[in-house]
Amino acid sequence: MTVITRFAPSPTGRLHVGNIRTALHNWMLAHKAGGRFLLRIDDTDAERSREEYVDAIRADLAWLGLEADAEERQSQRFAHYEAAFARLVEAGRIYRCYETAQELELRRKVLLGRGLPPIYDRAALQLTEADHAAKAAEGIAPHWRFKLDHGDPITWDDGIRGAQHFDPAQLSDPVIRRADGSWLYMLPSAIDDVEMGVTDVLRGEDHVSNTAVQLQMFTALGAQPPRFAHEALLVGSEGKLSKRLGALGADSFRERGIEPETLVALLARLGTSQPVEPIVDRAALVAGFDLSTFGRAPARFDDTELDRLNAAIVHHLPFARVQGQLPEGMDEAGWDAVRPNLAHLGEAADWWRIVTGPVAQPAFDAETRAFLAQAVDVLDGGLAWGDDPWHALTNALKEATGRKGKALFLPLRQALTGMDHGPDMGALLPLIGEVQARTRLEQAAAG
Ligand code: GLU
Repeated sequence: MTVITRFAPSPTGRLHVGNIRTALHNWMLAHKAGGRFLLRIDDTDAERSREEYVDAIRADLAWLGLEADAEERQSQRFAHYEAAFARLVEAGRIYRCYETAQELELRRKVLLGRGLPPIYDRAALQLTEADHAAKAAEGIAPHWRFKLDHGDPITWDDGIRGAQHFDPAQLSDPVIRRADGSWLYMLPSAIDDVEMGVTDVLRGEDHVSNTAVQLQMFTALGAQPPRFAHEALLVGSEGKLSKRLGALGADSFRERGIEPETLVALLARLGTSQPVEPIVDRAALVAGFDLSTFGRAPARFDDTELDRLNAAIVHHLPFARVQGQLPEGMDEAGWDAVRPNLAHLGEAADWWRIVTGPVAQPAFDAETRAFLAQAVDVLDGGLAWGDDPWHALTNALKEATGRKGKALFLPLRQALTGMDHGPDMGALLPLIGEVQARTRLEQAAAG
């Protein structure tokens, strides 16, 4: 059976790091099995859903390289929900209720006050047809609850959490549809999972009790439930579920110069027993994806770790991948020269300016100027520039002046680049070129 997973965001905001992680894991689960990954837009809430967020979700997934094999939208599937709803009403699994939010809240408080779990008391099940008719006559429409079967315990073997067990009598019958006819998340999601052939539902552990309820919905719909796995939530480095984390969207990472490969490499392994490594090769990450390595403890998302990993990832990015984002004129040799010095791709432009010039040289003392004049002499004396001019130049100068180490290298670097640190001069000097190098050395020697 083909593995089919889905990522089901509600388009009520940008994807945040927790959503991105869920999307990635579902994508990986599907890809590892050679299956399909669906994007399901959960937009039944017309008031809070926005088209701009749907576009942003697609754009973020594309940026991350997590394209879906197909896209579904709940707002286009109301006819399917109506049909299933009618069947479940007919089967006595959905019933009408009229309690107001205030009434329910009061009952909750009373139960809690008596030390009892705040479970819905099913009072509406006692209503007669005459009662319903009276409500209708008053112009009061019902909202609808799914009637849980209090028979057997609800159990499943969770892909991450292992054996799960719920007593249905300890759960409230969930409201699945509001009085205005609009849908709550629970039932449409189960209907979709059935009709879209979803085989694996992988989501956050905040959905564990929803799964208990939805398992009964699958059975009521006459369907075989998918496999379920719930991952531990993501927390900030301070160990709490932070507001900041929830607000960290893909756009904020992009603006900060974090590469999609960095987020993918981090989120693929965070919270698992596998080490986070700067792996750019997606296929290698997918091959190692394994739910059994997922831990039960919250996964800690640490910005410092993200920055460190980003630098390591940038050092691994091949020219073909970054080509379009490099400064004008920067070729593969340029990229290879500067990438070990980058924390962010954007810094390539700073180092490239050193190649193209002009550079701001420091003021050198007389002795250093004399040394730099000797460097010009070495060039004039017919130094074979060749493939490795830096070694040719420094070897000749070492011989001529007896200088070595910092006294030899630093003034040259400063004169040639205007900086006292930076990429390997051996890689930089051929890019600066003989003509430019001579001009810079002459300027520095002249003071
Ligand atoms: N739209 C739901 C959410 O974002 C989907 C949950 C699910 O994966 O079933 O929480």
